[in-house]
Formats: sequence, structure tokens, C-alpha cells
Amino acid sequence: MTTPTMNLAPPGSRYGPCQTDCPHPRCQRSRRAAATVCLRCGLQIGYDVNHIADPAQAGAVVHSACQ
Ligand SMILES: [Zn+2]
Ligand SMILES: [Zn+2]
Repeated sequence: MTTPTMNLAPPGSRYGPCQTDCPHPRCQRSRRAAATVCLRCGLQIGYDVNHIADPAQAGAVVHSACQ
């Protein structure tokens, strides 16, 4: 089974969240995902960076470069 790579569109871009704080559930989900910390390097996942769900730990994410 392969783990799909995820990549968050940057704020203000076509598929990204609003640049300002907004009440849209979709934007808030995106912001929350970007603020999630990589299990390996401890930095935020951020936008426009490939990352994957850590298969070893439910809910955890790691940068593709850190796995
Ligand atoms: Zn929004
Ligand atoms: Zn990392």
C-alpha cells in the first residue's frame, strides 16, 4: 500500500485558504493542517511542501523529505 503524498496550496492561491483569518471550514482545515508539526524534524508542515501521513502513528504527518 502506498501512502499518498499531500501538498497544501498556499494562502491566497487558487486552491489555498484565504490569506486572512476567516470562518470558512475548508480554510480552517487547511490552516490547521499547515500548522501541524512534522513528527521527524519538529517543524510545521507548511504550505506547498510534500508530506505524508506517518504509517506508524495515526494522525501524525511527516515531510516527504523527512521520512
Ligand atoms: Zn476562507
Ligand atoms: Zn520534517
